[in-house]
Amino acid sequence: MSERERFLNFIGGRFIPPQGGDYLPVYEPATGQVYAEVAASSRDDVLAACAAAEAAFPAWRDCPIEQRAALLQTIADKIETHLEDLAYAESQDTGKPVTLARRVDIPRAVANFRFFAAGVQHFASECHPTSADVLNYTLRSPLGVVGCISPWNLPLYLFTWKIAPALAAGNCVIGKPSELTPATATRLAQLCWEAGLPPGVLNIVHGTGTDAGEPICTHPAVRAVSFTGGTKTGARIASVTAPLFKKLSLELGGKNPVLILDDCDLEMALATTVRSAFANQGEICLCGSRVFVHDRIYDRFKAEFVARVQKLVVGDPRDARTDQGALISESHWAKVQSYLALARAEGGTILCGGEVVSPPGRCAGGWFLTPAVIEGLPDHCRTSQEEIFGPVVALYRFHHDDEAVQRANATPYGLAAVLWTRSLDRAHRIAAQLQAGIVWVNCWMVRDLRTPFGGVKQSGVGREGGWEALRFFTEPKNVCLQFS
Ligand code: NAD
Repeated sequence: MSERERFLNFIGGRFIPPQGGDYLPVYEPATGQVYAEVAASSRDDVLAACAAAEAAFPAWRDCPIEQRAALLQTIADKIETHLEDLAYAESQDTGKPVTLARRVDIPRAVANFRFFAAGVQHFASECHPTSADVLNYTLRSPLGVVGCISPWNLPLYLFTWKIAPALAAGNCVIGKPSELTPATATRLAQLCWEAGLPPGVLNIVHGTGTDAGEPICTHPAVRAVSFTGGTKTGARIASVTAPLFKKLSLELGGKNPVLILDDCDLEMALATTVRSAFANQGEICLCGSRVFVHDRIYDRFKAEFVARVQKLVVGDPRDARTDQGALISESHWAKVQSYLALARAEGGTILCGGEVVSPPGRCAGGWFLTPAVIEGLPDHCRTSQEEIFGPVVALYRFHHDDEAVQRANATPYGLAAVLWTRSLDRAHRIAAQLQAGIVWVNCWMVRDLRTPFGGVKQSGVGREGGWEALRFFTEPKNVCLQFS
């Protein structure tokens, strides 16, 4: 039997074992088998990473912006060169189709580095000529050491979405990827080292949220925490960091509505709603899980939607024909199934899917589920209100726009919303009324990295993306100069 791969910590420019010598198993969701081990780090490892980051900070802060930007471009080049291996690793770790990782996850990680390498060179701070003899200007300095904690669903894409602006702005980073998906972050560390990133500028500490994540959040040297993950975890991080007065950005869960108005381009709405419901097995925070359809087109939409969902191919993520891979873990697979049982108990009818399936061959023991469409759920039942984060979508019928907006807004979340209409008037009015950080009109997941990204209500506080991210990772100081 070949020895299992071990994902080690990356501290001070070296791959090192966790000080306690403990490891966690890493499963391949498509097979249900352990394929690697990851460092189960503790506070001691975080202390070592913080010491390395603090030591590296003065030189990185003082490194000319052009040099920092050039290094980030080199990292992007390296990710691009290794796109195939990284897509394979991402698919093995997450269960997502390798075609998706190749098309979306890894190219977006490249784009993150390229965008912030360019962005930081155009990032300007404000100057206020107050009067003839007084000038106020804002000095923006990097914070120092920052923590970047990311989830398992888009591992490299979301990790780099934080790390790239943090590094570009001149900070040193302690990154913690999800313990479920450590592969691509570890490979990124290797590529950063090959690109010539100085030791200690990027450190990666693997392990669980409690043992490795929380010590990062509470370490006195860590000035800011950028976190993406579940709402409950976000609340915990907020509670431990608030008394320490740390800067915090929280990107949390969602229960996103899709509004399909009676004047929409039905073909486009159908094709995109299948994707927005089930891309990445529904395990994207931006997936639309509550689809509100106007009464006039409800029956047509439902019949055609269900027919298309039934054609999605569930299978081996390595197979290019696969649309839907495996769910991330056995416990998450069980959780999604429990929501289907709950949906039935709450009055819902499963129109299709929700069946456990075993693709033949190497994936027979994997965590697969056919994509499910439900109708008939009341708005306020748990299935309609709680984030399921899997291949499950519910259809609801509405009669007029105000009703749709009010029902779309009636959850504790407010991450993203999608709106389908040909009317500019309705689009503007409804987009303004929806309680969401992002509203897509006649599209989904179209990104412009300059735009602010984030949620409202229990979907988070703070914004990522563009200048927002560079502002987050810098500290403004006002300098007021009076000259005679
Ligand atoms: P999670 O909250 O369980 O874990 C996220 C990360 O936080 C992991 O690295 C984990 O180890 C770490 N963590 C856990 N407890 C911690 C603690 N006490 N202190 C510090 N770190 C801790 O989330 P998950 O299951 O990995 O991801 C799924 C969730 O992420 C879903 O709710 C999804 O909606 C959300 N998500 C949100 C966005 C967004 O942009 N808003 C994007 C992707 C995923």
